[in-house]
Amino acid sequence: MREEILAYNKQFVANKEYEKYRAGKYPEKKLAILSCMDTRLTELLPAALGIKNGDAKIIKNAGAVVTHPFGSVVRSLLVAIVELGVEEVMVIGHTDCGVQHIDADLILGHLQQRGISMEQIEMLKYAGVDFEKWLCGFNTIRESVEDTVRTLREHPLIPKDVTITGYIMDTETGELYPVVE
Ligand SMILES: [Zn+2]
Repeated sequence: MREEILAYNKQFVANKEYEKYRAGKYPEKKLAILSCMDTRLTELLPAALGIKNGDAKIIKNAGAVVTHPFGSVVRSLLVAIVELGVEEVMVIGHTDCGVQHIDADLILGHLQQRGISMEQIEMLKYAGVDFEKWLCGFNTIRESVEDTVRTLREHPLIPKDVTITGYIMDTETGELYPVVE
């Protein structure tokens, strides 16, 4: 697969296909989106929202969540807000999200099947890694989006004039349902 991608890339550049994607680093719509890494959203999410290259900062992870108030999601949002002119943040979860039914036991079990030893896991627990918190999923996507919006709205470093809202996207149709407005 990697060879195929690298070959495609050479062709893409040679054909100057990049020309239609030219854009600046400051988001035209002054918007940041926190969403899920789900493969079905890769093209659907920007297409369904009318977002083009240069329009928005899009931050993605498993589940569209903030796992830590001083982790990489909030760091990215702060840079987007303070340095790149973002005035609005949309948290967009989606239907049929793979993160919904995961938990630490499930993932740690699968890791052991992949050769990570129980001793290793126990050692990390002893060193203070809270797997329950770090690897937890969520009950419903609605609850998760509500939690994430609350965490961001109450965050001590996010300026109060930033608008933060939450939605669920239909993974099939791209329709956006408001959760927190
Ligand atoms: Zn997802």
